[in-house]
Amino acid sequence: MTARILAVDDIAANLRLLEAKLQAEYYEVMLASSGPEALNVAFTQLPDVILLDVMMPGMDGYQVCTALKADARTQHIPVVMVTALTDSTERVRGLEVGADDFLSKPVDDATLFARLRALLRVKQVQDAWRLRAETAKDLGLESAPEPVISVTGARALIMAEIPQEMELVRNALQADSLKITAVTTIEEAQRLLSKGDFDLALLALPPDATEVLRLASRLRAQNNTRDLPLLLLADTAQKTQVLRGFDLGANDHAFRPLDPNELRARARNQIRRKRYQERLRAELDRSLEMAVTDQLTGLRNRRYVRRHLDGLLRTEEAAVLLVDIDKFKSINDTYGHNVGDVALREVAERLRVQLRAADVVARYGGEEFLAVLTGAPSAYALIVADRLREAIAAEPVRTGDVVLPITISIGVAVGGPGVPAEQLIGSADEALYRAKRDGRNRAYLADPELDKSGQ
Ligand code: GH3
Ligand code: MG
Ligand code: MG
Repeated sequence: MTARILAVDDIAANLRLLEAKLQAEYYEVMLASSGPEALNVAFTQLPDVILLDVMMPGMDGYQVCTALKADARTQHIPVVMVTALTDSTERVRGLEVGADDFLSKPVDDATLFARLRALLRVKQVQDAWRLRAETAKDLGLESAPEPVISVTGARALIMAEIPQEMELVRNALQADSLKITAVTTIEEAQRLLSKGDFDLALLALPPDATEVLRLASRLRAQNNTRDLPLLLLADTAQKTQVLRGFDLGANDHAFRPLDPNELRARARNQIRRKRYQERLRAELDRSLEMAVTDQLTGLRNRRYVRRHLDGLLRTEEAAVLLVDIDKFKSINDTYGHNVGDVALREVAERLRVQLRAADVVARYGGEEFLAVLTGAPSAYALIVADRLREAIAAEPVRTGDVVLPITISIGVAVGGPGVPAEQLIGSADEALYRAKRDGRNRAYLADPELDKSGQ
């Protein structure tokens, strides 16, 4: 996996050592020898992972990490603190400011590379989502604010055989108001996690870790649990299994004796990462929804219905109903544009409720709508069109004291596979023209003879 890594250390010899190690594994390496320099490189180069020395003169690693996590450009970049300090309060302090992990100097190669692979795996998935969300934003859609992500109400599953360990972990996480589900067996964990509504799983490794690692690997492969953060709890003597766990799909770990503050901080970071990813996904869904929706009426827009019709006509017969409001200009002229908008929304809504879920109705232009019906022979399409016409004419649109008798005219055309959408809509437009000419408030089926003579 090739990736760009920023190594930060105030001592040149340390930097050179890290650089050599990383390059030997084919990582692309960037270097910074102070806090401000690290921020500058991070903001401009956007590395994939940052290895951050804690003790530096001036701005230390904690301050750098805080600044990185406070900026939308770098918030999502994993940070690993590298330190000579082994004190647990120092470790927790790093996790508290958003670091993903801690490595102690001298850096153990196997641990370093296993951590990098696990962090990069998650980041690649997130990058893909972020890219799509940003592309959608570039299409001219609103950008969501980036609030601090809360972990409140998150659901965590703890799997531990030993009651004391379960209690310790449960108490630690409850301090952050996580909702805890406790299980003692792998089968139970698998069953509950597969339902997919957990935000974190903490898996305690028994002396023989094989089955738990197998579970981790399975969870990573399954759709429902693919993005579920997995945190392993292990003895320091189980380092090899933990590293193997990272390669199989674990995201984080904590060594026994478990430190409650460290556990909480790690759990929080994992949950935030997951929620960040979910937010990207939701933003993308919303952007896509907006890109195909007409803002005034909430119907599909012209772009969408054109694509939809093109797709249908590749394999199926389809009917198009081109709907135009009669004498709409006079509503605007008499009552103003706002009343006109109310009328448009009401007409849109009446059209929508008349059609089946499989049919698509779109706002096609100012006061024009296009409905596309699948598998509708012309006789049926004409019945539907007349129903639409009736649904508008039967009841005036009311807004405030204003009562608006509104009618629509409709042109209907039917075509099968191979007919260009353009041509079908053109035929419907000619029938619509005839309906207008014959006095409005009517639905006409396209007719090559009549429409030719009508021009
Ligand atoms: P016809 O029966 O021949 O269709 O007459 P018409 O007045 O409906 O046709 P025309 O095309 O002359 O006028 C359409 C009007 O629709 C003109 C335009 O101001 C109005 N319109 C288009 N989009 C909107 C909109 O979003 N809101 C409002 N209020 N009016 C709109
Ligand atoms: Mg009109
Ligand atoms: Mg018109």
